[in-house]
Amino acid sequence: MIDALLEPSDLPHRLPRFADISIEDYGPAIEQGMAEQLAALAAITSSTEEPTFENTLVALERSGERLDRVLRVFFSLLSADSDDDLDELDAAYAPRLAAHHDALLLDDVLFARVNAVHEKREDLEGEDRYLVERYHRDFVLAGAALGPEQKARLRELNQEISGLEAAFGQAAQADSNDLAVVVDTVEELAGLTPGEISAAAAAAEGRGLAGKFLITLTLFTAHPYLSVLENRELRQRLFEAQLARGSRGNANDTRGIALDALRLRAEKAQLLGFDSYAGLVTADNTAGTPKAVRDMLERLAAPAARNARAEQTALEASAGSTVEAWDWPYYAEKVRVAEYDVDLAVLRPWFEADRVLRDGVFFAAGRLYGLTFEERPDLQGYHPEVRVFEVSRDGEPIGLFLLDLYTRDSKKGGAWMNSYVTANTLLGEPSAIVTNNLNVPKPAPGEPTLLTFDQVNTLFHEFGHALHGLLARATYPRFAATSVYRDFVEYPSQVNEMWMLWPEVLANYAVHHETGEPIPADVLGKLEASATFNEGFATSEYLAATLIDLAWHELGPADVPTSPEAVEEFEAATLAAAGLDNPAVRARYYTAYFKHIFGGYASAYYSYIWSEVLDADTVAWFKENGGLTRENGETYVRYVIGIGGTRDPLESYAEWRGRPAPIAPLLERRGLA
Ligand SMILES: [Zn+2]
Repeated sequence: MIDALLEPSDLPHRLPRFADISIEDYGPAIEQGMAEQLAALAAITSSTEEPTFENTLVALERSGERLDRVLRVFFSLLSADSDDDLDELDAAYAPRLAAHHDALLLDDVLFARVNAVHEKREDLEGEDRYLVERYHRDFVLAGAALGPEQKARLRELNQEISGLEAAFGQAAQADSNDLAVVVDTVEELAGLTPGEISAAAAAAEGRGLAGKFLITLTLFTAHPYLSVLENRELRQRLFEAQLARGSRGNANDTRGIALDALRLRAEKAQLLGFDSYAGLVTADNTAGTPKAVRDMLERLAAPAARNARAEQTALEASAGSTVEAWDWPYYAEKVRVAEYDVDLAVLRPWFEADRVLRDGVFFAAGRLYGLTFEERPDLQGYHPEVRVFEVSRDGEPIGLFLLDLYTRDSKKGGAWMNSYVTANTLLGEPSAIVTNNLNVPKPAPGEPTLLTFDQVNTLFHEFGHALHGLLARATYPRFAATSVYRDFVEYPSQVNEMWMLWPEVLANYAVHHETGEPIPADVLGKLEASATFNEGFATSEYLAATLIDLAWHELGPADVPTSPEAVEEFEAATLAAAGLDNPAVRARYYTAYFKHIFGGYASAYYSYIWSEVLDADTVAWFKENGGLTRENGETYVRYVIGIGGTRDPLESYAEWRGRPAPIAPLLERRGLA
């Protein structure tokens, strides 16, 4: 029934009727949603009335309602519960939807009307005025203000760039597969768990190498096995394989593709009136300019490099030899256990999933925001494993929270939050429906789900996004829920991580699942003592990758080199200039396999640490003001998560704190002060 996708559901809070949706419905529903939006846009552009806020911007906001409803379900399931048929539909519709979106933003008549309202924006105030400004910028950054020839060139560039990005992804993946490390004997794998060893044996067999072992590569330069493999030669082989990806001069060499993409992006940015692609990207983020980003990164680089050098000295003392890049994670782990006596793996019995959720995550949200959660087994998610909770604030229902905890074949890797319904008054949606997806391996039947330290942290993090989605209130759908700038969106979720180890919260949820005993009293102290351990390394490897991303995208088209060999030279010069050229501390990613920046994160890898500046300042504020109180929660809702995207978020922040966020709390948190 395509109506189950297009029409608002009659279930509580408009929970989609998942049971009534079948795979055949998506295509027709998307087609109809697009056709209806085009008709609505045609009605706007053919109007003979003077352009007004109401007949242009508000009409534009209403135009996509039904298509949006379909796509929220479609894209959510594509990540959370997909199969080949759904993936095929995505491949078929992705270019159609991109073209649909372009047609909207490159429509001359529509832009002329938006422009006319924009010129008279002084007459508007608040969210209305901000809506005009943001739409106007969307149009301008998409090229709506360009002449016909430039527009044609822009379309060509967009197409070529997306082709190069797809080619980069494929070549990087192929080279990564090709470089998987073959190990002849089980003795060399000392340090891996029996499960990891049998996985390596199975992987080898899968490639016709029965009797041997295969270590497949991962995204990061520093493979996770480097911290446990005892055999130094194998560590070196693994590290060098990771580093070689995409730059061996074979058919899967990505460097030429990368340089072409960088050159075309720089041309695109200039066409749109910016000096560089970094200028174009930061203009549509809270950072504003590449210089603001560079200034922050450079303030962090020197202390991070200095701390990494001190850490290196300590590691070398412990190793009794020099520590190379492939040794660092191994000795760091040894020193961490010896000095701080923290073995995170032994904490799992205190992290039973349901207790973490109810007595930790929900408990903190109750104290801060007056939220309560009631499980509703009568309401069905998109998969039997999805749990549905009705969320109330001070007793008033405000929406639904869906939790999808476990890994399964139909789910993509990683963890994320998304929204099925966003609260906005224009379309009469008072409630929000949000979901958190994680990838926790399902325990054997009858066994409890015991989370790792990192999984507990992830649950608090993703729930921070969920709170943002549940508590934001907007007039317009454009600004509803988590529709904020990309370099801002991680901030509220990072802040929510602070409650995981907050003594009152930890004591409430971390109870041994068999004995009922509280978590050992000294654990928190040890965790706090070890908080800045190895942060010189972690900050340096992140900053190095971020600077590589930024430096490439600061170039004009003529400055991008043509020879693949120039890539390594450029990286080396960039890192040396920032003092991040310690050979034992390599970048988290290098250009030839930096998939983020040849996909959606070009010139935006800085976002994580940019939002952490706000996060660290906010955590300091909560601590100074008594922590887990309703009053603090209300203030935080008023200035941060409650406003969604309805106003400039940094302006709101400065209004709250009486100043912009300083960098000092971040430096202190990372031990860099
Ligand atoms: Zn996040």
